[in-house]
Amino acid sequence: MIVMKFGGTSVEDAKAIRNVTEIVKKEIPNHPVVVVSACAGITNQLLQSATLASEGKKDDALQLVASIEGRHKKIVKELFDADTAKFLYKHISQFAEELAALVNGVSILGELTPRSLDAFASYGERMSSFIIHHFFEAQKLRSFLVDARSFMITDDQYTKALPQFDIVERKLREIVQPKVANSYVVTTQGFIASTHNGITTTIGRGGSDYSAAIVGALLDAKDIQIWTDVDGILTGDPSVVKGAKKIKVMSFNEAAELAYFGARVLHPETILPAVKKNIPVHVLNSKNPGSTGTLIVSKPKVDKKCIVKSIAYKEGITLINIVSTRMFMAHGFLENVFDVFYKYKTVVHTVATSEVSISVTVDNVKFLPHIVKELRAFATVTTSDRKAIVCVVGENLKNSPGVAAKVLNAISDINVNMISQGASEINISFVVDEELVDSVVQRLHKEFFSNTSALPEIFE
Ligand code: ADP
Ligand code: ASP
Ligand code: MG
Repeated sequence: MIVMKFGGTSVEDAKAIRNVTEIVKKEIPNHPVVVVSACAGITNQLLQSATLASEGKKDDALQLVASIEGRHKKIVKELFDADTAKFLYKHISQFAEELAALVNGVSILGELTPRSLDAFASYGERMSSFIIHHFFEAQKLRSFLVDARSFMITDDQYTKALPQFDIVERKLREIVQPKVANSYVVTTQGFIASTHNGITTTIGRGGSDYSAAIVGALLDAKDIQIWTDVDGILTGDPSVVKGAKKIKVMSFNEAAELAYFGARVLHPETILPAVKKNIPVHVLNSKNPGSTGTLIVSKPKVDKKCIVKSIAYKEGITLINIVSTRMFMAHGFLENVFDVFYKYKTVVHTVATSEVSISVTVDNVKFLPHIVKELRAFATVTTSDRKAIVCVVGENLKNSPGVAAKVLNAISDINVNMISQGASEINISFVVDEELVDSVVQRLHKEFFSNTSALPEIFE
């Protein structure tokens, strides 16, 4: 079997859903499990309606719910004959009524918990999958709709719940596998999940990629296809750099680094389950299905001429500089510093150290005041926000002298706050002021990719 995941833009309207159906039809011999996202923009609107309700703006929240209902009904109208549409409208209205009830509840309480946010957010995927499943059936595909909450069992960390792999595997084998074996196209939702007790959770924004990878890995898929709105993983974010090239093949490690450093095209966690089982991941364009996309595998053939593969960036970063106040014999300093971050469950992105000083970057500043207070017991601490990390990625960086010099040379007039090269040696990352990030990425892209005649074959 294979897993085919369609992101928000791939299911954004009737035309997109028709495209998806044609793409899925071609893969029937490979027994696809289809994982869908909410229609583009709907998750944001659902969360916004929840926020409005909690702020006492109940009418605005209800208006938003009505517009979400309207958008889905329009899709139904454009996809189905009148009788089927009538039947489906009833269900869409039912979803909208449930959402309105949630709006009422939250506005009475005046409080919005992560658990309620997940309840709101789940409707996006539930509505899109409902429509897509029925369209598949109308197009004579043997679709079987499985509610992901029946198998994607997580803990109760609402809004970023952790899947419990052993249980998910058992449930997938019980619920999904027999349908696949029976030649059904299983249609299900990404992103949404459930606790043991049946309370709806979600696994983090952009999490449908992760859902797809989990399903693929646990059911030993031959291939995991991530269908999106660009031709594959590109040499830079196309919204920042013009003329970004497609990367034909890349390693799991490279893709993971890019994802962690902000390339939205893949959710950071996506890669892990696939890596463990050595399952290839294809990133493909649903608006251009003829393109071969990007293939991600554990060990692609190394092309010695290809040094830098892609440039990613992440905004909203805070830089923390920590200098030990005990100047000599500072053993235990690093341990003490990281203990504090561990205590507050705050992920550190990049680190640069000397014996008595350490610079780290974080994007989660929820506990920053507590962290700084505790660090100040044994160090001088300064923080600066509105920073961005820029990250140059390539498996071959480790064998290529002079890349860091080339990088710094291209931006020699820009103040770089911190530089770090990870132990994996496949990325060089550095911190700059957030307002300079577009220009830095554009200049680096020009440096490494503008000479198209000299570009290795791996780029297209
Ligand atoms: P989906 O809704 O299909 O999950 P996303 O919006 O999450 O799609 O991811 C696709 C988007 O990621 C692209 O439209 C593109 O703007 C952005 N992106 C950022 N960096 C890259 C990159 N290096 N390669 C390709 N796309 C990128
Ligand atoms: N719909 C969810 C989101 O917008 C999940 C996804 O699209 O991957 O975050
Ligand atoms: Mg995405």
